[in-house]
Amino acid sequence: MARVSRVRWVAVGAVALLWVLSNGSAPEARAQEAGFTTEGLASWWDGHHVDLPRPPLITHAEVDTRLQRVAASDPGFFTLATLGASNEGRAIRHLAFGRGPFHVLMWSQMHGDEPTATRALFDLIAFFHMRRDEPAVARMLDALTIHMVPMLNPDGAERFQRRNLQGIDINRDALMLQTPEGRLLKDLRDQLNPRLGFNLHNQGWRTSVAGTGQPASISLLAVSFDEARSDNPGRLLAKKVAGVMRDSIEPLAAGRIGKYDDEFEPRAFGDNITKWGTPVVLVETGPWPGPDHDTHLVRLNFVLLVSALDALATGRAEAASPDRYESLPFNGSSVLYQLIRRATVVMGNGVAPFRADIGITGTRTVRPVEGQRTIVIVKRIDEWGDLSTFGGLEEIDGSDLWATPIWSPALKIGDVVTLPDFASRTAATIGPAQPANLVLLKPVGNDRFRVDRLIMAEEIVR
Ligand SMILES: [Zn+2]
Repeated sequence: MARVSRVRWVAVGAVALLWVLSNGSAPEARAQEAGFTTEGLASWWDGHHVDLPRPPLITHAEVDTRLQRVAASDPGFFTLATLGASNEGRAIRHLAFGRGPFHVLMWSQMHGDEPTATRALFDLIAFFHMRRDEPAVARMLDALTIHMVPMLNPDGAERFQRRNLQGIDINRDALMLQTPEGRLLKDLRDQLNPRLGFNLHNQGWRTSVAGTGQPASISLLAVSFDEARSDNPGRLLAKKVAGVMRDSIEPLAAGRIGKYDDEFEPRAFGDNITKWGTPVVLVETGPWPGPDHDTHLVRLNFVLLVSALDALATGRAEAASPDRYESLPFNGSSVLYQLIRRATVVMGNGVAPFRADIGITGTRTVRPVEGQRTIVIVKRIDEWGDLSTFGGLEEIDGSDLWATPIWSPALKIGDVVTLPDFASRTAATIGPAQPANLVLLKPVGNDRFRVDRLIMAEEIVR
């Protein structure tokens, strides 16, 4: 072992010496100033982002029409190629621009229900094209060639489901290659042999920053290529780039950035693409509090991707420390969609009222409502009791409220009611693992209550 590692050190030393001889200086000295600030990118996004539906509602037809329009608008700038088709015959396209020797490959929506970055890629396309003559953007276009596959799993996206039409998780098909989508991604990687890959996903809305009740709005991972989670120059670059990305969004999402589990997954694309020679940064977009979450999350994706590309073009990525990535806290699982703190609970099954925090999870689905593709958040009571170590995307102070089953569909906010005899009913109960249908009541004296809020298990996002 000792001899092997000494030989390796000699080799590393020789490479470092060659580097210094050929460049005349250490890479740190070559880094140029950043072209963009977080504030500058965020405000450009606010003023210029592309007009697209909320990410879950973006269809393949929309993506395809836009890509063709973009490519036709400036054929000298953009190259659009068709890689192939999904099982249902939807075209999977590859857009490229830039003239630099350093090729990067970004792919989004390998999981059909993970759409945030797809929208951000269109903002990136608009940014590069609109500002192509500005020195800082031209510097990126001179240094880099940027390749994008904006929707790798269009059949899954159509159904807003993780898997493809075969029911296969494409991200576990890197070795068997039984999915057309997976084969197309591998072929493209092999053809381009890019120097860096960006694997763009969404993570569940339960995901927190470990040790806090804060949502992990963005989690980053410099993907491992072996069980030992070793470093090589490629993974080290991925770590540095992930650190740059962290710093770029820290002012917008302080305390809401996590590190994704870095365990090697032998079947996954990120891990194998790294192994095949293209280091990969995984970006997982998580939850954000409030109804306007998509705005914040798409903007974060835009800022961190442009910042990464800028840092690659200026040499700041190579010169960065991996510590900014390494020091990120790992992901946890302590964020709830709604958290009602210290309510008085009436289960509806005869158990005497007791105090509990009520934790409700929310999962985004897309389904037709009145003939329209609509986002519906499906909510479930996940846990209750002492949830003091959890956080909520929405927190409701329940200390002055009673939580009971919805015993009548006629209940309306503001109604003054008395509680029914739940013991005589069997239909309405609430509890963990049940759909989150409950009413919050405020006591107004004489055993009477005012209806304060109705929480329904299916919430339509308008
Ligand atoms: Zn995913």
